[in-house]
Amino acid sequence: MVKATLTVLPGDGVGVEVMASAQRVLDAIGKRYGHEFVYHEGLIGGIAIDKTGVALPDETIKLAEQSDAVLLGAVGGPKWDNPTAKVRPEQGLLKIRKHFNLFANLRPVKTYPTLVHRVPLRADLLAGVDLLFVRELTGGLYFGPRQEQEDGDSAYDTMLYTVPEVERVAHVAFRAAQGRRKKVTSVDKANVLAAMRLWRKTVVKVHEDYADVTLEHGLVDSCAMHLLTRPASFDVILAENMFGDILSDEASVLAGSLGMLPSASLGDGRFGLYEPVHGSAPDIAGMKKANPTGMILSVAMMLRYSLGLETEANTIELAVESALADGIVTADLADAQTKTVANTDEFTEAVLARL
Ligand code: NAD
Repeated sequence: MVKATLTVLPGDGVGVEVMASAQRVLDAIGKRYGHEFVYHEGLIGGIAIDKTGVALPDETIKLAEQSDAVLLGAVGGPKWDNPTAKVRPEQGLLKIRKHFNLFANLRPVKTYPTLVHRVPLRADLLAGVDLLFVRELTGGLYFGPRQEQEDGDSAYDTMLYTVPEVERVAHVAFRAAQGRRKKVTSVDKANVLAAMRLWRKTVVKVHEDYADVTLEHGLVDSCAMHLLTRPASFDVILAENMFGDILSDEASVLAGSLGMLPSASLGDGRFGLYEPVHGSAPDIAGMKKANPTGMILSVAMMLRYSLGLETEANTIELAVESALADGIVTADLADAQTKTVANTDEFTEAVLARL
């Protein structure tokens, strides 16, 4: 039996709705397997700005520090969408990742057989698509030295990596591959960028510790193409921060809807931050239309990576898969053939019934 303390940050918009679903699923897992999950709810994003004036109050950081993991819904919305405002919802996300030094972002992408028709690629390319992005999250082009002159005639951003920064994220990728199909594709642009030559050299060195895993290197441009021409050939894709950002968004179409995708952000220990890939979806917020799958599968990732509960994680993933296989879908996945469209609660109940 495991007792875990979880910080729950529903955030804004559909974040609140999908978090409610995820907690119901987690409670059911606790009941079935005899675990105790203690929730501490905190503020982040727009709601935190409204209540405290900042996007991530110290109180939330304290709660998270005392927890085994953090579950996050989504932040943002039209009310706070002003790029020049001093205080913005997404600052909460950046601050919490930085505070806990969460340097590895994991995003699994899978094409479920019953959702193939939702994907704008030929069905024969989609059989067996099941890949995992491991994106470096705290270095590279997004964090290097920069000069911004809004009114000037030049600006620059620097892609800077150190060997330890590449090593630690490469270890995450190889370890993840060991639990999967044992293949890592490391994405770089080593033919042009010095930082990417260091990346490749370092990944090759780290690979020496993982004889059971196959390593291949891909240039980011050709990888972008292969993700669409042979997506099923990938297992784990290891990428620099910006490359991983772009490629994982490209790959998200393989899942059929943004609402399907979970993510985990991990640091050195077992602590992690788990959130769906989508935003606060203001166009459907409050209507019970949100697909809770991304958040529910994020809970499965939390059980796997922060609590070591692999069986429980698999149970959730199978329950989701089974609901989808039985044709139970939310509006984002529905088409002319869909008989009934489930709302957020009905989809959640379908998953609960299969647990
Ligand atoms: P979004 O992901 O919120 O929505 C994009 C589209 O996908 C919308 O049509 C939405 O209805 C749909 N969608 C998203 N999640 C869904 C779900 N679970 N089920 C069904 N449909 C879903 O992106 P956006 O519209 O560009 O941004 C809206 C707000 O969210 C903005 O304020 C943005 O800054 C913020 N945002 C937050 C995060 C985050 O919290 N990690 C990520 C992206 C965007």
